[in-house]
Amino acid sequence: MGNIWIADGHCDSLGDLTDGKRDLQKSAYFGHWDIMKAKEANIGLQFFAAYIESEYKPFLAMQRGLQHIEAARRFIDHSQDEVFLVSCSDDLQYLGKNGKIGLLLHVEGGEILAENIFMLDIIYRLGVRSLGLTWNQRNAIADGIGERQSSGGLSQFGLNVISKMNELGMIIDVSHINKAGFWDVLHHSNSPVIASHSCAQTLCQHPRNLDDEQLKALAGSKGVVGINFCKDFLCESGEANMDDIVKHICHIAEVAGIDTVGFGSDFDGIPSTPDGFENVSKYPLLIEKLYQRSFSMMEIEKICHGNFVRVLQNVLK
Ligand SMILES: [Zn+2]
Repeated sequence: MGNIWIADGHCDSLGDLTDGKRDLQKSAYFGHWDIMKAKEANIGLQFFAAYIESEYKPFLAMQRGLQHIEAARRFIDHSQDEVFLVSCSDDLQYLGKNGKIGLLLHVEGGEILAENIFMLDIIYRLGVRSLGLTWNQRNAIADGIGERQSSGGLSQFGLNVISKMNELGMIIDVSHINKAGFWDVLHHSNSPVIASHSCAQTLCQHPRNLDDEQLKALAGSKGVVGINFCKDFLCESGEANMDDIVKHICHIAEVAGIDTVGFGSDFDGIPSTPDGFENVSKYPLLIEKLYQRSFSMMEIEKICHGNFVRVLQNVLK
């Protein structure tokens, strides 16, 4: 049981690294994710997000995004005994092996493109393999879920971004996009689409969560939903523990199938963690709960990493 490895679709730890607040090779008294704790949890794949903070948008967003990417690349260069960059389908064979964590570079916020499609080629060349089209605000691609007055879908530029991402072999992430944009992406992408860090709206009415029709559509694209550990996304009361995570796993498995469920903790991006899940090192306790719920070994492997790996196999070149 102890050696099932974990794929986690989202963490925001890179921000601390970029700003020199924390050395992720060492455990600090603060922070949800670092190499020591991730190894304790047997993390084999971590989507490493370059979250572009609101204060940089729109004019400094590209600069800030590139700064995060450079910080991630330096970190990977300096931590070669512990991590490696996941950039092509050949790299997938090394996931969960040799005690190294595969890092997949993700940008959270299409503002990095500064409305230029060639920026996708540039960030791809820099190693980015996944893009969250929007955060909560509107951008040139689409509207985020924070735009309550709008029902706008993908712009023409947004449609071009989808085509180009399909062509390059980049993961399209619809966490944070509004519903109109979500459906436009699902209609236009030829590749599996993911929601890297979202939960089920039927269990918790939060705009960041996905309704059952959206969950089914992601299943139809052969994508995956990474369950977010934000307490406000798990429970309307704002209080949550590991059992609430299990409830969302069960609901998504029931509505969209076991092949659609994964983890997207949002560690270091969420203000507080579920009770008993203070940081990434506690993952094995969650896996134990899945065994107690009578998920089979094969199902647990799919939830823990198999579904994310399948998507990467289908999308990466
Ligand atoms: Zn996010």
